[in-house]
Amino acid sequence: MAGEPQDDCLFCKIVAGHIPATVVRETETTVAFRDINPQAPTHVLVIPKAHYRDAAALAAGAPEVAADVLRETRAVAEDEKLDSFRIVFNTGAGAGQTVWHTHAHVIGGRGLNWPPG
Ligand code: AMP
Ligand code: ZN
Repeated sequence: MAGEPQDDCLFCKIVAGHIPATVVRETETTVAFRDINPQAPTHVLVIPKAHYRDAAALAAGAPEVAADVLRETRAVAEDEKLDSFRIVFNTGAGAGQTVWHTHAHVIGGRGLNWPPG
């Protein structure tokens, strides 16, 4: 069923506490933790606790949780004292998505080029 935990999903395992992560924030519906391979001084992933494969699937299936994720990206940026930051939802293998559980990358703490590579 949409949103249900998936046995083979890395981020569902982090939500369940079966794999450790450096959690920086948690709400009823979201978890934010540091990326294991940071691309900037701040690189935090904000995920819904529910399993959806990408941002659009989350928005379609649980729009209120999609809003929670976005709200948390700002909270992370405030916690990290970032004036400017980037929110990235890689969507599809061609765009670099490697984990099929919606995650917002919150990236900041250095200059960010536009357009991204
Ligand atoms: P994406 O390539 O957009 O799907 O992003 C997946 C992100 O998850 C990458 O930036 C990885 O570095 C990160 N990642 C993979 N495994 C872990 C983990 N166990 N804890 C934290 N971040 C992870
Ligand atoms: Zn999952």
